[in-house]
Amino acid sequence: MSEKPQKIGRVYLIGAGPGDPGLITVRGRECLRRADVVVYDYLANEALLDSAPSGAELIYAGKIGGLHNHEQSQINELLVRKALAGHVVARLKGGDPFVFGRGGEECEALAAAGVPFEIVPGVTAGIGAAAYAGIPLTHRDFTTSVAFVTGHEGAHKDASEIDWQGLSLGSGTIVFYMGMKNLPLIAQNLIGCGRPPETPVALIRWGTRAEQVVLTGNLGDIAEKARKANFKPPAITVVGEVVSLRDKLRWFDNRPFSGKGILVTRAADQAGEFSSMLERYGAKIFECPTISISPPEDWLEVDTAIQALSGFDWTIFTSANAVRMFFMRLGDKKLDTRAFGSCLVCAVGPKTAAALSAFGIRADLVPPDYKAEGVVAAFKAIGISGKKILFPKADRAREVITKGLTALDAQLIAPVLYRNITPESVPEKVLAALEEGQIACATFTSSSTVENLAAILGENRMLRLLSNVAIASIGPITSRTCRELGLHVDIEPAEYTLEALTEEMLGFFRRSN
Ligand code: SAH
Repeated sequence: MSEKPQKIGRVYLIGAGPGDPGLITVRGRECLRRADVVVYDYLANEALLDSAPSGAELIYAGKIGGLHNHEQSQINELLVRKALAGHVVARLKGGDPFVFGRGGEECEALAAAGVPFEIVPGVTAGIGAAAYAGIPLTHRDFTTSVAFVTGHEGAHKDASEIDWQGLSLGSGTIVFYMGMKNLPLIAQNLIGCGRPPETPVALIRWGTRAEQVVLTGNLGDIAEKARKANFKPPAITVVGEVVSLRDKLRWFDNRPFSGKGILVTRAADQAGEFSSMLERYGAKIFECPTISISPPEDWLEVDTAIQALSGFDWTIFTSANAVRMFFMRLGDKKLDTRAFGSCLVCAVGPKTAAALSAFGIRADLVPPDYKAEGVVAAFKAIGISGKKILFPKADRAREVITKGLTALDAQLIAPVLYRNITPESVPEKVLAALEEGQIACATFTSSSTVENLAAILGENRMLRLLSNVAIASIGPITSRTCRELGLHVDIEPAEYTLEALTEEMLGFFRRSN
C-alpha cells in the first residue's frame, strides 16, 4: 500500500488594507477565501474574516500598542507549523504586510522552513488614511517627495536611528506610523532640524473607518492639541504643506452622518440594505436585530401541502423569508422547483419575486400594490372561485389575505411556514455603544421593532439608553407605538419607505449640525 505524501500547505501574507473592508485587494480576498487557517492582527478589520470559509480556524495574533498577545517569534512558529501540517494559511495584516508590519520577518521564517508563500500587498495606512482625510501626499505645487517613517523608536534625537536632519529638510511630506507617544519629540526634532513650526500637521486616527478622526495643527502646537484632545493611537501623523489641502479636499469625514452611530433594529436578513444606504452617508452602523426568523413548531401542515403541491392552482409568497424557508423545506424533502408542476406562483413585492427567481421561478403574478389588500384585489380581478390556493405564511401574519381569498370562494390552505421570534438579548457591542453614548439615532421600521426592543431591554432601560438619542420612525403606526412606550419621535418621513426615512434623517442632522 503506497502512502500518500503529506501535503505541504502554504502561507498567503495578505495586506488587509487600512480599515475600510473595501480596501483589501481582489487577490487578497481570493486568498482569504481559500484559507483553512486565518491568523489576523489587531489592525486588520474583523469584518474581512467573513470572507474566510465558514469552517476556517481564526487565530487572533493581535498587538495592541506595546502589548503583544503573541510574541513575534511565536507567530512565525505558528505560521510555519500550520503550513507544514498541510494547511492553507492566510496571514492577514493591517495595511501592507511589508510596511512596518514585520512581514519581512515572517517571510524569512517561512523561507527558512521551506514553506511556500505568496505576498499580497495592501493599501498601507499612510496612503489610505491620508486619502480618506483629503490629503494628497504629493502635489506638484507643494512637494515632490514623501517619506514613511516609524515614530516608535524616535527616542532622543542623538540616540535615534532616524536621520532627523536629512528627514526634516530632505522630504517634503513625512508620514509617521506609531508616533502618538513620541509626538512631542517628533515635532521638537523636526523644528530643531529646521522645519518651520508653522508647518501643517494632521493626525489621523482609525483612518478609512467610519470612526476616523482627524486633528490638524502645526509642528508648533500639534503635541499640545493632541494632549488636550486626548488623541489616542492607532493614528498616523502627516507633516507637510500638503496637509493644508484638506480644507478643500475633505470628503469622507464631513458626510452628513460622519462620526454618528446609528442603531438599525430590523431583522438581521433585512437590515443590510438599509444599513448600506446609511453607510454611504458616513454612518457607523450598529445592527441590533429585534426580529429573527425561525421554523414552525411543527412542519406537518407544510409537509402535507408540499406533498400535494402540484395539485394547487396557486402558491402565494408574501416575503423573501417565506420563499427561502419554503425552498429549504423542499430541499430537506429532496425536492426542488419541479415539485410545483403547473402550480402558478404569486410573489408580493419585487424582493419576493427576486428571491423566487434565485430558485428558478418566474412569478406569474406580482400585484402592483404590495399590501395584503392589493393581493386580494389582484386575485379578485383574475377570479379564483373554486381554485386551490396555498399560502404558506408567518405566524403573526395579518388576516387580510386569508379572509379576502376565502371570501372569493377559493379553497385556501394557509399553514404556518415560519415564526417571527424576538431575540433574547442585544449584541454586546451595541449595548456598550448605547451605554457610552456613541449612538446618535435609533431607527424603527415597524411597530414590532420598537415593541421587541422594549421587550428585550425592558421599557425603563430602553428609555434611559435612548434618552439622548434621536428617534427615527418609518411612519405613523410605528411612531404611535414609540410614543405609547414613552419615546419621543424626532424623525418621520411622509412616505413609508427606507429611502424617504434616510432623506428625513439627513435633513434632521443637517439642521442639527
Ligand atoms: N502594516 C501597517 C502598519 C502597521 S504599524 C500598514 O501598512 O498600514 C501600526 C501603525 O500603523 C499604527 O500605530 C498606526 O500608526 C498605523 N495605522 C494602521 N492602521 C491605521 C489606521 N486605520 N489609521 C491610522 N493609522 C493606522
